[in-house]
Parts: sequence; C-alpha cells; structure tokens
Amino acid sequence: MDKSKIQKLKKDLEEDKEKVEKELESIAKKDGKVKGDYDTRFPDFGTAQSPDESALEVAAFESTLPVEYALEVKLQDINNALAKIKSGDYGQCEKCSKPIDEKRLEVMPEARTCTKCQKKK
Ligand SMILES: [Zn+2]
Repeated sequence: MDKSKIQKLKKDLEEDKEKVEKELESIAKKDGKVKGDYDTRFPDFGTAQSPDESALEVAAFESTLPVEYALEVKLQDINNALAKIKSGDYGQCEKCSKPIDEKRLEVMPEARTCTKCQKKK
C-alpha cells in the first residue's frame, strides 16, 4: 500500500479514535488504573425511593454495557491499527498474513483480518 494512502487511513483512524473516546466518556468514566479501559457509570436518577425506580436504574445500566463493550473493542482495534502503521505492518491480515483488501480498509481502517478470515470466524 502506498504511503499517501496509509496517511489518509491514519487520519481517519485518529478521527475515529477521538469520536469513540468522546462517546465512551459520555457513558463511562475512565479507569485511571488500566489504560484504555472504561467503567460504565451507574446512571443516577436521583435517590431511588421505590423498587420500580431501582429496576429502572438497573435496566439503564445494563443497556449501556453492550454499547460500552463495542466501543472499547473498536478503540482497541483503532489503537492496534495505529501501532501497526508505526511499525510498518499495517494492512496485513493477523490470521493469514496476506494483505487486507484496500477497499475493506477504506470502509473499516481498524480491520485486523482480511475478508476471507473474517468470514471464517
Ligand atoms: Zn486473512
């Protein structure tokens, strides 16, 4: 892959990273101990006075967890891709070591595997 293309994808990745981090911050507080790890903030609807209100809080908490998880995975993939750009391994499938299709990287610059390996999963 030529350098200018990689630079463009790097820019996309950095923009994505910023977006994902902002989204994570809006639903979770950053864990100071583990870099890149976030704790989902327990939503506060005020002091729960009835069992109904507590149930509502738990439901809201549970619904943000999968979102937080998906964002964290995406952030890890983005960081992984940025590290690979630095080391010069970017665009290589992690499973079969073949180059990942450029079209796939344009749509999903954080992709770790080629389309073939992705399908096998
Ligand atoms: Zn592959």
